[in-house]
Amino acid sequence: MPGDAVAGRPGGSHRDHAGETSHPGADLAEWAADLVEPVKPKLRGWLHAAMVPASLSAGIVLICLARTEQAVLACTVYSVTAWLLFGTSAIYHLGTWGPLGEAVLRRLDHANIFLIIAGTCTPLAVLLLPREQRTLLLWVVWTGALAGISFRVLWVQAPRWLYTPCYLALGWAPVRYLSDFLHTGGAAVVTLVVTGGLLYSAGAVVYAVQRPDPSPRWFGFHEVFHALTVAAFTAHYIAVSLAAY
Ligand SMILES: [Zn+2]
Repeated sequence: MPGDAVAGRPGGSHRDHAGETSHPGADLAEWAADLVEPVKPKLRGWLHAAMVPASLSAGIVLICLARTEQAVLACTVYSVTAWLLFGTSAIYHLGTWGPLGEAVLRRLDHANIFLIIAGTCTPLAVLLLPREQRTLLLWVVWTGALAGISFRVLWVQAPRWLYTPCYLALGWAPVRYLSDFLHTGGAAVVTLVVTGGLLYSAGAVVYAVQRPDPSPRWFGFHEVFHALTVAAFTAHYIAVSLAAY
């Protein structure tokens, strides 16, 4: 298969987003894992590819049913970040891009994680928070997202154990607003927001520790991570929908 062409190349293997190790010494364990298990699982990328039309139609429904101009704008921002996330991931994971293409797509793929965090917070803040808190939360998550993206772009070889917690920190920043979400959105919205947060966090942990890895040939740890992001996105989408309609 095409992905095999990069097998065994340190830092470029399709086994995972392993491009942060530009030379074997940077992370020997990860590089060794790439050599032992060089084949890209056959289902890599397909879950997110399926989410491209799904999130596109879901986003259009959400935007059409949003009740105010501000809500339409916030839901559009949210939907665009979702399309970017799933679209870039599908393109990145399904194709074979060569070292430069892979490096670029990998950065975009990781930048999109920050964007989906800020993108998800945007309609929740606009729909559920009073003006002052809304402004503060939007500043925090969008500044955090841009800072996170700059960090990943400027320090391309940052180790996984350092940048994965950054996603978690930004993702859990809105936790202080849960009581406001409960007050305006109700128990179902808060439950879904927390469930989505926990699912994304579980995905981050799986990505960081690279376990469980059920079937390295077909459905490895990275696919588990992708499945958790799909479940998390679904929970958050329902929460935003409940708040928007
Ligand atoms: Zn991925």
